[in-house]
Amino acid sequence: MTDVLARIAPGAWAWIQGDGSWWIGNAGLVAGDEGDILIDTCATETRTRRFLDQVKAVRPGSPIRFAVNTHLHGDHTHGNSLLPGSTIIVGHSQMRAGLAEDTIIDGCPPFWNPVPDWGGVRKRLPSVTYEDRLVLHSGSTEVHVVHPGCVAHTPGDSVAFVPAAGTLFTGDLLFHGVTPLVFMGSLDGALRSLDRIAEFDADVVVPGHGAVLRREDLDAVLEAHRRYYRLIRTAARAGVAAGIPPLEAARRAELGDFAAFPDAERIVLNLHRAYVEITDGTFDLLAAFEDAVLYHGAPLPTSV
Ligand SMILES: [Zn+2]
Repeated sequence: MTDVLARIAPGAWAWIQGDGSWWIGNAGLVAGDEGDILIDTCATETRTRRFLDQVKAVRPGSPIRFAVNTHLHGDHTHGNSLLPGSTIIVGHSQMRAGLAEDTIIDGCPPFWNPVPDWGGVRKRLPSVTYEDRLVLHSGSTEVHVVHPGCVAHTPGDSVAFVPAAGTLFTGDLLFHGVTPLVFMGSLDGALRSLDRIAEFDADVVVPGHGAVLRREDLDAVLEAHRRYYRLIRTAARAGVAAGIPPLEAARRAELGDFAAFPDAERIVLNLHRAYVEITDGTFDLLAAFEDAVLYHGAPLPTSV
């Protein structure tokens, strides 16, 4: 699948990258009379330049006034430094704090094949943060940036709602046809965030990874996420009760139709988080990824 900047509503585009696997996230563009608004950037210099070239092609001469970071992960933020210095980057306060501490931009650990080369990017943090919600204005265009009210995919998630376009960018609160991931967040919070997503009056929903959704598809996709998160919770409770580690619990879990989703090994990372929630333990990121590679049987897939 090739990357494409697709017009999804009047004044709104979605940058849909490939199969939405590791490090291959979606982004967005919203047109404004006084400059445009981007939703997220990409993991690598190459991918971000490709996105920005397409933005320039559909909005020639229009400056990028704002960029929203839906969360701290590099597949949504590494390209920040390639935006003009005049672009105001916006994120949740917890997102900014998390990105400030994140070290993966300095060198990617060897959990993926190929090991991503970020290229000529450097860490650039949001210059505007918020707590509950924030409205960006560009002429008559509004983008409502809203925190789900709980730790979900990460502690600092944002969704971006464009009322005039009936469009909701969910960041990684939704993965469409790709295995969801909550290792840096909360299983219960991720479940609750689905109810918040359902409250927006959106005709078009752009997930963090995977294909764009229409309103009529949303309920089924939300329900699939609920089923997946409950499956993780059940497997974690059984695993803790049996005294087995998360990797063994993952191997025993029956994924059903989710086994066919890309990145099924994320069950290991999700179980590591669920175990921590049940046992009040400490999350070990490196151990979780080492286990995910063992479950997968090889370094995890990505593309540059
Ligand atoms: Zn992502």
